[in-house]
Amino acid sequence: MNIIIFGPPGAGKGTQSNYIAKKYNLFQISTGEILREQIRLKTDLGIKITPIINSGSFVPDEIVSELIEKVIKEKNYTNRIIFDGYPRSLNQASNLDKLLQKYNQKIGIVLKLSVGLEIIKKRISERRTQEKRPDDNEQIAIKRYETYERSTEPVIEYYKRLNLLKVIDGERSIDQINKEISDIIDLI
Ligand code: AMP
Repeated sequence: MNIIIFGPPGAGKGTQSNYIAKKYNLFQISTGEILREQIRLKTDLGIKITPIINSGSFVPDEIVSELIEKVIKEKNYTNRIIFDGYPRSLNQASNLDKLLQKYNQKIGIVLKLSVGLEIIKKRISERRTQEKRPDDNEQIAIKRYETYERSTEPVIEYYKRLNLLKVIDGERSIDQINKEISDIIDLI
């Protein structure tokens, strides 16, 4: 099955998808990580997207779509993907629908980690100390949170209407969240 995980920046999407990927033998696909890798490698694409990512804006859809199609068409990954950070807008969700149809796949479940802004600010400042992500300063984090609410919440509504959505209280401990997610997946 393919899974999508949603949550504002700092909600623990990466941590939880890593855990689910290992436990259920899935591939964690984080568009943020793929893009940061391009920056680390200093590719032409990496150089182009550096200022966009550092300012907390979205990278253009065409760039992300191309990267995502490469992943979806990979045979080993068929119906074994956990999408972390994609889709982030209705446009991307409709692109994902088309790609999944093209490669004969579907989404089994959509998880949303729900976390309020105050906790996000705290977690992001902790992560900044550990990972040194340039987009993890408080001002940019607030912008990314607002962008999430504006662009990504409508996508979550879209999956809710399709009856695929499970909302999880993301303000609890990592272990408690792990357990709830496992219980949900085990029931599919
Ligand atoms: P993340 O690691 O998911 O927090 O993503 C970090 C940054 O990468 C975001 O703030 C965006 O600039 C960019 N990014 C990641 N995923 C996407 C996406 N699906 N669409 C557009 N930009 C993205």
